[in-house]
Amino acid sequence: VERQARPAIGLDLGGTKILALVVSAEGRVLARAGRPTPHRDRAALVDALVDCVREAVARAGLRVEDAAGVGVGAPGPTDPERGVLLEPPNLPPDCRDLPLRALLEPRLGVPVVVDNDANAAALGEHRYGAGRGTADMLYITISTGIGGGIVAGGRLLRGAGYTAGEVGHMILAAEGQDVCGCGRVGCWEAISSGTGIARQAREAVAAGRAPGLWARCGGDPAALTAAVVARAAAEGDPAAQAIVTRAVAYSGVGLLNLLHLFSPALIVIGGGLTHAWDQLIAPAARWALDHAVRHAAAACRIVRAELGDDVGGMGAAALVAAASRA
Ligand SMILES: [Zn+2]
Repeated sequence: VERQARPAIGLDLGGTKILALVVSAEGRVLARAGRPTPHRDRAALVDALVDCVREAVARAGLRVEDAAGVGVGAPGPTDPERGVLLEPPNLPPDCRDLPLRALLEPRLGVPVVVDNDANAAALGEHRYGAGRGTADMLYITISTGIGGGIVAGGRLLRGAGYTAGEVGHMILAAEGQDVCGCGRVGCWEAISSGTGIARQAREAVAAGRAPGLWARCGGDPAALTAAVVARAAAEGDPAAQAIVTRAVAYSGVGLLNLLHLFSPALIVIGGGLTHAWDQLIAPAARWALDHAVRHAAAACRIVRAELGDDVGGMGAAALVAAASRA
């Protein structure tokens, strides 16, 4: 069989679980397998990845060597040229500078491609999801963090340091008080992500500015999630409404900046906060399109991601196709 027509195997490597998908050349999921991410050491992690691939392939009635290759979408910065995880968060401590491709290829016997999870997700939506047929597309995930990937001229834009597409760390409020998980102040992620919304709610409660939120969390600020804040805002709580309004306003600014920088034909938005699309995403998208340079706005649509929870695995499978085309 032609390598392009073969199925690809996508490995979604996360801090809590590993998912392997066998994906046909047309983008159909043929089989899946998953397990918790082992945290003992790198050897246990690599064993689990290999076992997960073998299990998924067996369920599809195939052998590993029937596949075009294995793609791995991993957290944190990666070096896709060498197939190395540089500083993966939430994995065993000896996984810094982990040469995953070199460790997996001899055991699996097929080519292995490694990239960060947001880039993989962007390719997944581009090849199999909402971005099919689009040459210039941005993928943005708005969840506990804000991440993204840039497809330009049909190819992933990685940049010289492989960090292109880190849209969540665009600094939008440099003179504010919003400390990001990355340590900088004023990142988009610090204001509009689930973590950012929850942090602002905790601060408002601590300052005595949010009696309604205080009551909703039963006096335990750790129970304040973005979902709780969004619900409170929808029900008219003024402190929650102020936080949501600010999160939406900065998402609008973030999207407008991206429209001006890249003039994409499509912005695909996924992630947990898209469950509150009409409240958190749609008004930001509308503001960005209303305020952007006219030709950029006219050429762009902003839509929901289509692959849901499979975006990591499908994206990892799309890495294989993208690499064999290169
Ligand atoms: Zn940041």
